[in-house]
Amino acid sequence: MNLARFPRIRLAHLPTPLEPMPRLTAALGGPEIWIKRDDCTGLSTGGNKTRKLEYLMAEAQAAGADIVLTQGATQSNHARQTAAAAARLGFACHLLLEDRTGYKDANYRLNGNVLLDHLHGATTEERGSGLDMNAEMEAVADSFRAAGRRPYTIPGGGSNPTGALGYVNCALELLGQVTAMGLVVDHLVHATGSAGTQAGLITGLKAMNAQIPLLGIGVRAPKDRQEESVNRLACATAEKIGCAGVVSRADVVANCDYVGPGYGIPAESTREAIDLFARYEGILLDPVYSAKGAAGLIDLIRKGHFRKGSRVVFLHTGGAVALSAYTGALGIF
Ligand SMILES: *Cc1c(COP(=O)(O)O)cnc(C)c1O
Repeated sequence: MNLARFPRIRLAHLPTPLEPMPRLTAALGGPEIWIKRDDCTGLSTGGNKTRKLEYLMAEAQAAGADIVLTQGATQSNHARQTAAAAARLGFACHLLLEDRTGYKDANYRLNGNVLLDHLHGATTEERGSGLDMNAEMEAVADSFRAAGRRPYTIPGGGSNPTGALGYVNCALELLGQVTAMGLVVDHLVHATGSAGTQAGLITGLKAMNAQIPLLGIGVRAPKDRQEESVNRLACATAEKIGCAGVVSRADVVANCDYVGPGYGIPAESTREAIDLFARYEGILLDPVYSAKGAAGLIDLIRKGHFRKGSRVVFLHTGGAVALSAYTGALGIF
C-alpha cells in the first residue's frame, strides 16, 4: 500500500489527538477507554468527513470542476464539511438536504449544520424522505451541466473508495500513534452510517495486519445491510490501494442495536451517552452519530463484552455542532 500515490489536498489538522478518558473509565468500571479525537479535524468545527474530503476534493480539482454537489440529511455534518472545503478551495457548493426526521422546529431546520452551510456560502434545496438521494443529486448535476457548469458530485457521506482513503489514512495514523506510545489496543469502536469510515479503517487495519478488531455501531440500517455495505466498500477500497482480498467478510462487524426510534432521532441511551461524556470528560457528542456509537460502547461495557484489563479506543467522529439543532428533540429546554 502506498497512499502517497493518491492526490490529496490537506484540509484537516492531523494527527488528531489520542487521549485516555480516566473518569469515564472509572465510572463504567470496565476496560480502559481511550478516545481518538476526529471531532478535532479543524475544518468548520471538524468531524470525520474532512479526512474523506482531502481525497475527494483533490479529485474534484483534477476533474476541473467549478461546483461541488453533495447530499445528506438536513443536519448533515458531511454537507457542512463539504461546504467548508469548497469555500476553502474556491469551488461553489450546492447541497441537497433530505428531511429524514420530520422535525419542524426552527432550530432543527435552521440552526446547527444548516446555519454553517449558509455561512460557508453553499446553496441548498430540500427533499422529502425516502427518495434515492444520489439519483436526485445526479439529476441536479445534469441541470448544472446543461447550464454550462462543471459539477463534481460526492455521494452521501463521501462514501466511495476515494473518500474511504481518508480512513485508510486514519488507520495508518492511529497505528503510528499507538506504536510510538507503546500502547496495546484491543478494540476500536465508532459510529457507522454511510460506511466509508468503517470501510477505510478495516482496509487500513487489515492491510497492516494490525490485529485490532473493529466494531461499527450502526445509526440507521439493520445489521445485515450495514455489514454488507461496509464489506462491499472495503473490498473496493482494498482493490484501489493494491491490497485486493485483504478484507474478509468476517472482519466487518456492525452492531445496530442502538439506532433507537430511527436515523437522527435520539433514544434514551443516546441522551445518557451525551451526558456521561460531557460530565465525566468534558467532551461533546452529537445526537445522530457519535452518541449512538458511544451508547453502544457503554452498554457493551456494562454487559461485560470487553474483557476487564483490556483497552478500547472510541473514535469520536464529530458532529457536536448539531447539538444546537437538537434542543427540542433532546428535551434540553
Ligand atoms: C458521517 C458521520 C459518521 C458516520 O461515518 P460514515 O463514514 O458515514 O459511516 C459518524 N459520525 C459523524 C459525526 C458523522 O457525521
